[in-house]
Amino acid sequence: MKYLIWLVVLLAVVVWFQRAKKSMLAGNDAAADARPESGIPRPKAGGTRRSAEPGAETMVQCAHCGIHFPVSEAVVHASGALYCSEEHRRLASF
Ligand SMILES: [Zn+2]
Repeated sequence: MKYLIWLVVLLAVVVWFQRAKKSMLAGNDAAADARPESGIPRPKAGGTRRSAEPGAETMVQCAHCGIHFPVSEAVVHASGALYCSEEHRRLASF
């Protein structure tokens, strides 16, 4: 029974360590992106990371109907206002 408890504790430590290592690697990526003089040619990590978690995208509000939608789907008016669709951009311009 005593060994079982130690086994669970060891497993928890291993899981925690792997998570810490993963977040540490992510932190290093961000630091490398901030320092272009590091000399390591790497693609912009932001794009791949964003596609990996679609829920993390910035949400904006339509200036016409007030609905919230991902900024990548925004239709931008000449004034800089954001709309959910071409239809609402057109309606708002009147
Ligand atoms: Zn709208």
